[in-house]
Amino acid sequence: MATLYGYVGKIARINLTDSTVTHIPTSNYVPKYLGGRSVCNKIFWDEVGPGVKAFDPENKIIYMTGPTTATGIPTGGRTVFTGISPNSYPEQYAWSGIGGWFGAEVKFAGFDGFILEGKAPEPTYLYIEDGEINFLSARNLWGKLVHDTQRKLEEIHGNDVKSIVIGPAGENLMRNASITTSNDNVAAKAGFGAVFGSKNLKAITVRGTGTVIPADIKKILELRKKMGYPQAQPNPIHHETTHGMWGNNIPVEGGWLRGQVACSHGCNQHCNKLMLDMKSAFKEEKVNHVEKCVSIFAFGYKEDCCWVPIQTFETKQNHLLPCKMLSGEPLPPDPTDPHFKELYDLVPGDIVNFWEPNFDKGSIINDLCNEYGMDKWDVIVWLLPWLSMGKKEGVFDGIDFGMEINVESEEFIKYLMDSIVYRKTYYGNLLAEGMARAIRALGKEKFGDTIYHGRYSQVVPGLRLDLPISLETAWGHSVHWQGRGFEGAINKPGWVAVNLHQMNSTRDTQTIAHHHDTFDNYLAVKDDPCRHPLTAIAVIKGENSAEIKDSITCCDWQSPNLFWTDMEAQMFEAATGIEMTEEKLNEAAERSKLLFRAILMRNYGRDREMEVNAIYPIMTYPDPWGQTCTWEEWNDLVDLYYEERGWDKTTGWPPQEVFEKYGLHEVADSLKAIGKLPGCR
Ligand code: SF4
Repeated sequence: MATLYGYVGKIARINLTDSTVTHIPTSNYVPKYLGGRSVCNKIFWDEVGPGVKAFDPENKIIYMTGPTTATGIPTGGRTVFTGISPNSYPEQYAWSGIGGWFGAEVKFAGFDGFILEGKAPEPTYLYIEDGEINFLSARNLWGKLVHDTQRKLEEIHGNDVKSIVIGPAGENLMRNASITTSNDNVAAKAGFGAVFGSKNLKAITVRGTGTVIPADIKKILELRKKMGYPQAQPNPIHHETTHGMWGNNIPVEGGWLRGQVACSHGCNQHCNKLMLDMKSAFKEEKVNHVEKCVSIFAFGYKEDCCWVPIQTFETKQNHLLPCKMLSGEPLPPDPTDPHFKELYDLVPGDIVNFWEPNFDKGSIINDLCNEYGMDKWDVIVWLLPWLSMGKKEGVFDGIDFGMEINVESEEFIKYLMDSIVYRKTYYGNLLAEGMARAIRALGKEKFGDTIYHGRYSQVVPGLRLDLPISLETAWGHSVHWQGRGFEGAINKPGWVAVNLHQMNSTRDTQTIAHHHDTFDNYLAVKDDPCRHPLTAIAVIKGENSAEIKDSITCCDWQSPNLFWTDMEAQMFEAATGIEMTEEKLNEAAERSKLLFRAILMRNYGRDREMEVNAIYPIMTYPDPWGQTCTWEEWNDLVDLYYEERGWDKTTGWPPQEVFEKYGLHEVADSLKAIGKLPGCR
């Protein structure tokens, strides 16, 4: 058999109910489904039909590496989980990416991925070593915090193993529980930590001594020199006196110590902040955290994130890799660019007045999320602002949480998180169900839609930006770059696009799509972004790019590079030796997206009506310029999007010929049989 470069050849089907393992050849799926998320989509489509709930043993967690994983191609260490998400509202199929060294080790151990199915009869962890998969008792690990679990596994199996673990949040089926690697990388979106918990699965530990053979080592070395250039440095430890990002920096008394670390095997960037000697929520000694962007807001949340158009709309002269922004090592901007001034025109974030800067309290919030194993986004951007806004508006008057609501207090935050993660109180139990469900149980009109009056625009002085106390967008997630609420400073051509991304998804899309477009397109659409096909075209490009990133696999902090459009094709070719072009990669992305669409249609009844209504409400509140989106504007943009995709505008369903064009005849046939192709209604 010809060597299958880039892949190691088999996927493990791991049945937790009866502790059995069978092997599936990876070549059953690749290269038609590139790897990563697109292989997961195919497996899920084939194996999990409608009616399965997130915590049923029949839900499957499908984990896949990509062809670039463990090849040394920068950012290729990222990998993907998919399955039915307990945190999606309603429960739907979703995905979650993760960095770290675990994925590479899985390949070194001889697997391209695994399918977790069933439910272990008692707390269990998996120990994988060079092709052998062992089911071991996790009785002594159950109940442990995330870092303690990682340490214990290293004590048992040696400190060269790589593990993914869940914390108490996952064990107690908290719907936004995450899965964590040893360097604080998390699969946070979708709540798959709780699915691990529902399967009695505490951890997976792996050691591999094999190799992954890439096709073209010379090309990989070239990519290593070019991607993310200039390479961010693992700079020495810095003593910082402030903390935050442009515009919302807070002074830190006594300062703090920062390093920079890469999050993922093979990556030459060092995007993530290593925060040293931070106050711990659990012990007297100081602890270290690895943090990314959202953790910043735990420290102080009086002002929202500001925005410069270059974060979304770029020119060839000035295009900015997001990883450079976080690592603080961007290329110097080119002032000869005719759009230089507009690109770098800083739009200040809004005054939100959620909580006062407090560095130690911020450290506690991050440590609680890291150690309990839960999605920080839901805590920092949704739960805590909701408590802050609701308290100020009197919504919680008469409610007894067991301790007075005070988001400024470390003690209250610790008490609250403890009562949620361990489901100790009535309200703790309720909030463990996730914000979308908890708010509906309490009564959405009062506990979700009550207007908060304390937010002010810094773009239009004096403009009060009334918004609901629940920063909910769609599918059970909180806003992200959507023009109001968190990162509200983005302008309308950007936020309508982001909302379109979100409409088509089942989870927060901005952690993978981060809408990007050229400045030329921005100039063309800016006066009426909902009526210009370029908005829809850019969204489709972003969506396809997200499929590619999660499939081959790479990272959205470097991709898409709007001005190096075949970067991912080069990565794939270097890893596999299979000739790849941008066009072919785009076809594979369309195929993956169509499978995702087909799953949503078949399993969850997705259609246009459900989608336009799920996302529209958040756009009726003012952005920092006071702008909203009308129902007509929104529907015109959705028309343009479906048209560009070649999908039916009335139903939002792709027609038979579109499925067939991408080699998905059998998918079209299955949908037709259940009346879910356009014209079948
Ligand atoms: S570019 Fe940054 S975030 Fe992405 S894989 Fe590399 S280190 Fe991680």
